[in-house]
Formats: sequence, C-alpha cells, structure tokens
Amino acid sequence: MAVKQTAGRNQLGVVAPKFAELNDDVLFGEVWAREDKLSPKMRSIVTVVTLVAKGIFDSSFEHHMTTAKNNGVTRDEMAEILTHEAFYAGWPNAWAAFRTLLAVYGNEADDGAAADFKPMFGMGDPNDAYAAYFIGQSYLKPLTGADDPIHMSNVTFEPGCRNNWHVHHGAGQILIVVGGRGWYQEWGKPAVELVPGTVINIPPEVKHWHGAAADSWMSHIAFSEPVEGATNEWLEPVDDEQYAAVR
Ligand code: MN
Repeated sequence: MAVKQTAGRNQLGVVAPKFAELNDDVLFGEVWAREDKLSPKMRSIVTVVTLVAKGIFDSSFEHHMTTAKNNGVTRDEMAEILTHEAFYAGWPNAWAAFRTLLAVYGNEADDGAAADFKPMFGMGDPNDAYAAYFIGQSYLKPLTGADDPIHMSNVTFEPGCRNNWHVHHGAGQILIVVGGRGWYQEWGKPAVELVPGTVINIPPEVKHWHGAAADSWMSHIAFSEPVEGATNEWLEPVDDEQYAAVR
C-alpha cells in the first residue's frame, strides 16, 4: 500500500523545494505508487540493489532495507540477493550491505517460526483443528466472532504448506491474499499464482486447493458465504508431484 512520503519536504523543503516536491510527489507519490505495474517488493529489491552497487550505505540505505522487509522481502531472500550481487557490485559493498541486513533483520537462527513473515492481520494459532487436511503447518486467525453473521479468518501457510483438494458444498468461498506468495488450483486447470491483492472467487462444488509457494509464506483471508447447511468435503492431499508441477 502506498505510503505518503514527506521525507523530502521535511528535510529539504526550505532549501530545495523543487527537489523535495519531486522526491515526495513524483518519485514516491507517482512512481513507487504504480503497484499495478511493478510490486512494491520488486521496487524495493531494485532500489536496494542499486544503492549497494553505488556504494551508498547512509541512513537512506537502512530505510530502503527496512522498506524491503516491510514489502515482503524475507531475510533469506535478502541474503541471497546480496550474495548474488557481491559478484557484480563488489565484495566490500556486499559486506557493508550485510551489516545493514543484520541491523534490520537481526541475526537470530530461524527457529522454524515465521521469523521473517508478519501477517498484517496477525499469525493467530496453529491450525490444529484442520491439520489433518493440510500438508505442512498452517495458522488460523479468526477475524470475526462465532456469533457474527459472516465468518472471516486469516489463514497463514508456511512455505510448502497447502490444504488438501477440497470442495465447498452449498456456498462459495472468497480468498483475499494479504501477504507472501502462493497458489490456487482448480481440478484440471493450471494453478493461479497468489500475491497480495489477488482475489479468488471459488464457486460452490468446485474441487480445488490453496497454499503457499515452496519458497514463501502466504497469508489469505478466507470468507465463506453464510449459507445454512453449507459443508466442506476434504479429499486427497496435493501430493509432491502435483505440488511440484505448479508454476
Ligand atoms: Mn477452499
């Protein structure tokens, strides 16, 4: 989501009002905001890589590394980006960038929890009630109460996690992707990539599955039509061969 940028006017509004205007209104207000053309995550990667290549490691670099993290670049991805870039931008540049990575992302060992992934609606609890119908670990964060007329939950999938093939009988389901990257697939059709902002409208009686990409967490809101007597039918798992075939 685009954030109103005021750094230019705050710091240079008096001295260089035109530069401040271009920075806040054009670079951030117009170019960064073109999220339908290139995702904020990709824009962050381009920006961080460029600053590293130019050897710019002032406060703006830490700001952009932090923005990259907020735009969904995981610590593992950033480490890989800098490792790759070291060969093109130079070893000392990568070293300097890694010091900022440690400051921004921390140096804790990955304990298997979502160290780098912070769902915007929260992680919730391990989705134990449905674990039998998932491969991998998922987490459930209800967004509405049991007595509310409609039910929405945020479901977060660890990398590689997906639910079994299943059918929603009697009522459709809508998925609104809010973080990470994943897949949705209907039986007999190619998989659809899920990224933040993707909305999937699943009609009743359609066999399908949804889950994370192999290398990314994924979080979506699941909204079920409030239809009396609607049920879910859980079928066979999405086996490794089927999962590996999605692209
Ligand atoms: Mn479903």
